[in-house]
Amino acid sequence: MRYLYGPVHSRRLGLSLGITLTPHKVCPFDCIYCQLGKTIIKTRKRQSYIKSNEIISELKEFLRSPALKSAAVDYISISGFGEPTLHSNITHLIAEIKKLTLIPLALFSNAALFYDPKVRRDVLEVDLLLPSLDAVTQDVFEEIDRPAPGIKIEDVIKGLVALRKKFKSGIYLEIMLVKNINDSLEYSYKFKEVIDRIKPDKIQLNIPVRSTTESWVRPPDKERLLEIKHILGETCEII
Ligand code: SF4
Repeated sequence: MRYLYGPVHSRRLGLSLGITLTPHKVCPFDCIYCQLGKTIIKTRKRQSYIKSNEIISELKEFLRSPALKSAAVDYISISGFGEPTLHSNITHLIAEIKKLTLIPLALFSNAALFYDPKVRRDVLEVDLLLPSLDAVTQDVFEEIDRPAPGIKIEDVIKGLVALRKKFKSGIYLEIMLVKNINDSLEYSYKFKEVIDRIKPDKIQLNIPVRSTTESWVRPPDKERLLEIKHILGETCEII
């Protein structure tokens, strides 16, 4: 299989079958904590990076296989090796996947393109949306996510606010916390103001624990993590 991986156990979704819609590290960001290494093509250009029929035929093969029967997959998750919303045909792929199976469909996204109403419309049919938001100011955004030129954090935030108004299923917002970059208490209050505008169903705090693109990246202290969770309120959990 080239575009499917797993099923793998994930802390956020249980047993999940992953699908990638891009080749390795095609992404509008080059996050310092990324586990996949440096971004190879940093872009916000949408195109059909992988032929839709090749992805769908791999999924059909998996759904016919004995592996599925023994696995009891909780979610099919569109995530993979780059940013899935860069795929210009994502709405067609979502529709095709949903025709093939009743397994709930989740979408991981860095939210970089949700400023575009077309991208927001394209993802409305998934069952669970897992966007990430690592910063709420442009300086910290550039330090942690190293976005492609022209991407403004305020546009990312406005996109998430607009998407929340249309998206009727669950939104679990992930924040990756990196020591000395976005983990101060003062910054947590700024996160809180923005998250109150977005209104996700859950806030999920994550920390870099595996290999990171930049070797100096460190997680916040445990005590700090608990303080931030407290500031962000009862819908916040540490994953
Ligand atoms: S958005 Fe995701 S895939 Fe892209 S660089 Fe960041 S962590 Fe890696």
